[in-house]
Parts: sequence; C-alpha cells; structure tokens
Amino acid sequence: MERLYIDLGEASYFINIKGGLLKNLTDYINGADQYIIITDTNVDNIYSYEIAEALKDNLYHKYIIPSGEASKNYNEAMKILSFMIEKNSTRKTTIIALGGGVVGDIAGFCASIFMRGVGFIQVPTTLLAQVDSSVGGKTAVNLPMGKNLIGTFYQPSTVIIDTELLRSLSRKEIISGIGEIVKYGVVYDYSFLKFIKENLSQIIALEPLTITYVIKKCCQIKAEVVSRDERELRFRKILNYGHTIGHAIEAITDYKKYTHGEAVLCGMYLEAMLSMELELLDKCYYQEILNIIQDSYGEVKLSDISREKLIEALAKDKKNVGGKISFILPTTYAKVTEVLLSKKEVEGLLLQILG
Ligand code: NAD
Ligand code: ZN
Repeated sequence: MERLYIDLGEASYFINIKGGLLKNLTDYINGADQYIIITDTNVDNIYSYEIAEALKDNLYHKYIIPSGEASKNYNEAMKILSFMIEKNSTRKTTIIALGGGVVGDIAGFCASIFMRGVGFIQVPTTLLAQVDSSVGGKTAVNLPMGKNLIGTFYQPSTVIIDTELLRSLSRKEIISGIGEIVKYGVVYDYSFLKFIKENLSQIIALEPLTITYVIKKCCQIKAEVVSRDERELRFRKILNYGHTIGHAIEAITDYKKYTHGEAVLCGMYLEAMLSMELELLDKCYYQEILNIIQDSYGEVKLSDISREKLIEALAKDKKNVGGKISFILPTTYAKVTEVLLSKKEVEGLLLQILG
C-alpha cells in the first residue's frame, strides 16, 4: 500500500492508496461513537452492499444525496445537519464522505460546522476526487448566485483511496480526472507531465500500477502545495491554472455539458493561448501543453464557446481583485505566474483567440 503524510501541524493526516481498501474500512477509521456515511445515489446503487459489509460492526447511518452538482447546495447541507440531529449525532460522531467531489465538498462542509466540527474521513470514488478534491481541506456548497460561495477550510482526519472503485466510472468521468492530473504536471512537475504523455492510454485504462503511481504523485504534489499555503494566500493559487476560464465555461453551460475536469481541460487550453498572446509563454512548452490536452480530451472546439458569455461569467469570478480578473498562466516548464487583467484587456485577448 502507498501511504503519504500531509504535514499541516495539528491538522496533519495520512492518505492511504490501494485497491480494495473499502472492504477494510474499519482498519482506518477512528473509533467514533457513531458514523454518518454521506454518499450519492449512483455510488450507493453500485456499492451499497460493500458499504454495509464494511461498516457492519459499527453504529452508522447513511444519508444519500441525488447524484450531480445540483445537490451541492446549502439546503441539502441543512438537510444533512438536521438528519444528524435526528440520529442523535454528537461531537464524537465522524462523517465519512463516500463519493466524488460533490459528496466530499458537502460532507466536509457539514463536518466542519456540525457542533463546531466533527471527525471527517474522505473515501473518494471518482478519479478527480482521488487526485484532487479529497486532499487539501477545501469544503463548499453552492448558492443560487454562484458556485462554492460558502465554504470552509477543514482537513479530513484521513483519506482512504480505493483504486478499485474507479472501475465503475464512465470514460467521461475518467477524462475529467485527467484534467486535474495534467494540471499538476503543467504547473509543478515537468517530468510528471512527460510521464502522463507517455502513459496516457494506460492511465485512461486504469492500469493498476500506473494509476496508483499517478494518484500518489498528484496527492504528493497537492500535499506539498497545501503544506506551504493551506489557505490559498499565495502559492496554492498555482493550482488554479485552467480554472478561471474553466469555471466560466461550467457556469455558462449550467454545469451540465462539461464535467469539472473537462471544463478545466478547455480552460487550460484557452489560458495557454492567452499566455501566448501576452508573450509570456515559451513556444515549445505551449505546443506541448496544447498537444497533451488534445490527446486526453480530443479537439477543443473554440466555436462552441461564446466570447460574450465567457466575458460576462469571468467578470463575476470570485477570485477577481479590484475589478480585475485573475489568471494563473504557464510561462515555461513547470512555472506559472498570476496575471490580473481588466475586463477590456480580456475582451481584446479573447477576440484574438476566439474571433
Ligand atoms: P461528482 O461527485 O459529481 O461525480 C461525478 C459522477 O460520478 C456523479 O454522477 C457520481 O454519482 C458518479 N460516481 C462517483 N463515483 C463513482 C464510481 N466509483 N462509479 C461510478 N460512478 C461514480 O463529480 P467529481 O468530478 O468527482 O467532483 C466535482 C466536484 O468537486 C465539483 O463540485 C467541484 O467544485 C469539486 N471540487 C472540489 C475541489 C476541492 O478542493 N474541494 C477540487 C476540485 C473539484
Ligand atoms: Zn479543479
């Protein structure tokens, strides 16, 4: 088994990675008085038996949210908290998030506010959640006015990554995870980016040794970045590459057409072009970035993206500073820089890129 330590002082924890860990869940949980499992309808349909087997000797209650981004909202969080009151949860309760990033984000949010904070364990079931959202302690729910508008920083006590759970994912969800994997390579580790390029088909096929290595590497990078800057005051921002335009693409398509990772792949593509227009990006690196995005995602159809709607959504980005839009742009091998641009400047640049 692969075991990683994420060093955050008092909030430090282990990330355990191996196929089959769900079966042995009780070896990794922490003797709480009661467990609240939060999962979604898809995951429960597939793994209901395994969950019951894994927890059969413990007092637990299961709360199932409808699958999909629409469930990650404030009202659903209030329903989870009411359910916990109904089940007599106390400060000695531990919440277990068994699902993708949607479940992880809302479960973590509830864990952080129920009675000022209860135990929290992440058991991520999508590739995106295993390489990214289950590590680092960002929790969130959406409001009608926008995504992730309410949230906390709250670290789990452990992360249990069972790579066998990935086998039931659709190809679209696997590619979504690859979006974040490529991001780590571009912003932090060029030799990892080359590894991804050379092993892309094995990664997509979830070949056990390759996928375990990739998940470990991504968690290691995320752990290093988060240990340096847990609250995203500076350094952690590097992980936002592809996300300014990615979030705008998700928003203008109502979070339906693109998965988060697909939107990030398209966002990284356009932001690399933006960096090139600004003459910030090394030309060879630019071509490598575009190639690996196309190899994983397919052709990014720029004609599908409306410039006007994109600009409208970018102007509402919650990372905006003093009316300027913040972009993390690649410059050269494993290096990025933050650039703040006015709406007008972005309009001009997008006109060059999208026409
Ligand atoms: P998701 O949780 O919606 O899961 C995607 C789909 O896969 C869902 O339909 C789900 O039911 C299904 N699914 C989950 N596990 C499965 C399995 N093993 N087999 C078959 N189907 C399965 O989406 P996601 O891509 O995992 O996460 C996206 C969310 O994560 C977004 O809300 C995003 O904002 C958030 N996010 C958070 C962070 C963070 O640091 N907290 C980082 C990145 C993304
Ligand atoms: Zn992301």
